[in-house]
Amino acid sequence: LVELDRNHLIHPVASWRGHEQAGMRLLTHGQGAWVRDGEGRELIDGFAGLWCVNAGYGQPSVVEAATRQMTELCYATGYFGLGSEPAVRLAARLAEAAPGDLDHVYFTLGGSDAVDSTIRFVRYYWHARGLPQKQHFISVEQGYHGSSTAGAGLTALSAFHEGFGVPYDWQHRIPTHDLYRNPVGDDPQAVIEASRSALMAKVEDLGGAEHVAAFYVEPIQGSGGILVPPAGWMAAMRELCAELDILFIADEVITAFGRTGPLFACADEGIVPDFITTAKGLTSGYVPMGAVFMSDHVYQVIADGAGQAAVGHGQTYSAHPVSAAVGLAVLDLYQGGLLENGRIMGERLQAGLASLSDHPLVGDVRGRGMLAAIELVTDKKTKARIPAAAQPATRIFDRAWDQGLVLRAFGWGVLGYAPPLCCTTDDIDQIVARTKKVLDLTLD
Ligand code: PMP
Repeated sequence: LVELDRNHLIHPVASWRGHEQAGMRLLTHGQGAWVRDGEGRELIDGFAGLWCVNAGYGQPSVVEAATRQMTELCYATGYFGLGSEPAVRLAARLAEAAPGDLDHVYFTLGGSDAVDSTIRFVRYYWHARGLPQKQHFISVEQGYHGSSTAGAGLTALSAFHEGFGVPYDWQHRIPTHDLYRNPVGDDPQAVIEASRSALMAKVEDLGGAEHVAAFYVEPIQGSGGILVPPAGWMAAMRELCAELDILFIADEVITAFGRTGPLFACADEGIVPDFITTAKGLTSGYVPMGAVFMSDHVYQVIADGAGQAAVGHGQTYSAHPVSAAVGLAVLDLYQGGLLENGRIMGERLQAGLASLSDHPLVGDVRGRGMLAAIELVTDKKTKARIPAAAQPATRIFDRAWDQGLVLRAFGWGVLGYAPPLCCTTDDIDQIVARTKKVLDLTLD
C-alpha cells in the first residue's frame, strides 16, 4: 500500500512538509478517540483527524443513519427544486441552533467551497443592493480560509499563494491579534484597538467603506497556529463592520460543533455575524459536508419573489442526503450530551497542558475548550523559536506517533490539539502525559 500510495495518490501538503519521506502511514480502524495503524498500534487521536472527528470514531448511530439513507435514497438535486427529508430537517435544526437571524443554510461539500460560496453570495448581495463597487474582502494575517483559489487568496499563509496568482487584487489583510507575539504587546485592550485601527486604515486605503464588501475572520485562528483573540475582540470587530456597513463573516469551519464549547463559537462571543461558514464537525469526518449560514436580512435582499435565493451558484453534491443524515445523527450526539462532555474534557485539557508551562521548551499554552496549542521556544524571554532545521515539525510528529499520540506539529514550532469531544478523563490525561514525554525527548 505504501508503494501504491507513493506511485498513485497525491497528497500535496504532506509531501511539501516532508511527512511522506518515510512513506504514508496507514490507519485501519477508529473507535472513540483512538485509531489503529497498519501495524496494529493503538494511538490516541489528539487532533480528531484534521480537527473534524468531533463526535469520535465508530459511532453506531451515525453508521446506522448513513446506511439507512443510502438504502432509501442516495441522491436528490436542488437544481431542479428537488429535496430530501434529511437535508431539510438538518437545515431547519441548524437554523434553530445558530445565533440570531442566521436562519438560512446552504450546504456545500466542505470548508473551502463554503468560503467560496459566501464570496459569491456576498458579491451577489451588494449587486442586488445596487452597490457593485463594494468588492474588496479583508481577512487577517495567520488566517486560513481554505485552498480553493478564491479561498486561498483570503488564507494568509504564503505557501498557499506562491505560484497561484493569489491574493487577487480584491483580497487584503490586516495584522493578526496574536497575543503572544504582537508588536503592540499583550494588553488585550491595546490589541483590540490596534486591530480596529488597522481595519479602519485598510478600509480608508481601499477608498472607503463604499468599496469594501466583507471582513472575513475565524473566532480562533486555527491553521495559523491556534491563536485566540483577546476577549471582546470579535465583538469589537463585528461592531465596527456594522458601523461601516461591511458584511462580517465568521469562518467557523474549525470552531463550530463543540470544538470550543457551544455549537457555534460566536455564541460565546455574544455576536451574530452576517454569515457563518462551517464544515468539519458538521458531519464529524464520516462523510464530506459544509454549510453556509446566511442571516435573514441578507437573504431577503437576494431572494426572489418566490422567496428563493436566485443566485447562479450550486454544486452537484450540495445538500447530499447521506451527508445530511449523518449531520442529523451527529447533531443528536452533540445535543444529547457530547457538547457537555466536550466542555468538561476541554477544561481538563486546558489545565493539563497549562501544567506543562514550566517545561523549558514551552513558551506559551493557549486555547479554548477542546482546541489548544503549545508554542515551543528555545528561550522563554526572547521567545526564540526552535530552529526548524534542528527540530523539524515532522520529527516532533514522529516522536509523538512513537508515543502513541497523534498531534499536529506546525512547522514553526507549535503543537496543536483538537481531540474528539467523546474523550474520557483518562484519554485527556494520556494526551497530556504523552506530550510531556515528547517534550522531554525533544529537549534531549
Ligand atoms: N476555513 C477554515 C477556518 C479552515 O480551518 C479550513 C480547513 N482547515 C477551511 C476553511 C477549508 O476547509 P476544507 O479543508 O474542508 O475545504
